[in-house]
Amino acid sequence: MNIGFIGLGIMGAPMAANLVKAGHNVTGYDLDPARRDQLVAAGGRAAGSLAEATDADVVITMLPDSPQVEEVVLGPDGVLEHAKPGLLLIDMSTIRPDTSRAVAAEAAGRGVRAVEAPVSGGEKGAVDAVLSIMVGGTEEDFEAALPVLEALGKTIVHVGGPGAGQTVKAANQLVVGGIYALVAEAIVLLEASGVDPHSGMDVLAGGLAGSRILELKRKSMVDRQFAPGFRIDLHHKDMGIAVAAARQAEISLPVTALVAQLIAAARAQGYGALDHSALLKVLENASGRTAA
Ligand code: NAD
Repeated sequence: MNIGFIGLGIMGAPMAANLVKAGHNVTGYDLDPARRDQLVAAGGRAAGSLAEATDADVVITMLPDSPQVEEVVLGPDGVLEHAKPGLLLIDMSTIRPDTSRAVAAEAAGRGVRAVEAPVSGGEKGAVDAVLSIMVGGTEEDFEAALPVLEALGKTIVHVGGPGAGQTVKAANQLVVGGIYALVAEAIVLLEASGVDPHSGMDVLAGGLAGSRILELKRKSMVDRQFAPGFRIDLHHKDMGIAVAAARQAEISLPVTALVAQLIAAARAQGYGALDHSALLKVLENASGRTAA
């Protein structure tokens, strides 16, 4: 298939490369020319404009947040303006559910098929093509997107109509944030008690407390390696989406609200560009135990 890929960042770059490996013709666009060169090195083509990337059977967007998706998809000179009728748009960014619903409605009005397909699994999941993908849209459009998504992920689930995929992603992010906060507290406790945090966390990873986060991140957290990965700034955005979704559903999510404040603190303390595992810094600061 001819695929246009817009947003070749930490996630988009390896995803676009995996589509090339799966045999698709991938034309990528990113504001950052270095990102476009990276796709060329991986066997894809660089587009000089959004219009060029949109001249395809399928367009995938992997952008930071709702404003960028609104600009790239709905904006003047955006994807919908250049789309051929019947184009399949797959937005894989994590954004507000109401933005995904607006994109779906606007696309339908222009004869474009649109699904949202946010992902979980991090940079490693993107590189290894084992992402979990939660798809919101019609059954028919989900079926059309599936062969493309199968080159990117392993668990691919149609969770409902437009917006549902983003709601599932918000639930995912509140769980991930909460686990990071508690893993960080466990490390602070072990270190403050004079217990070796590496061996302590190894035991946790093998027991009921075990999780994918402990499996992948316990060593780098104890070693204070916080290169992203998934930036605190983006997780802050996602906690905002989760808190807003709770308000809209007229429910109370007290633990989520607390975790959202801890992630806001991480940002306020200057850690926005670090990996979200840097939540550890906030919790060690809270105990006056700032590591070197
Ligand atoms: P990123 O900042 O590394 O990449 C975003 C890319 O979009 C950048 O290269 C940027 O130059 C480009 N961009 C921004 N505005 C643009 C525009 N108007 N036109 C063209 N390109 C534009 O972010 P990322 O970590 O790859 O995350 C992308 C999305 O995936 C976010 O919504 C994030 O929440 C979500 N996500 C990230 C991870 C992760 O571990 N990094 C995991 C799951 C989901």
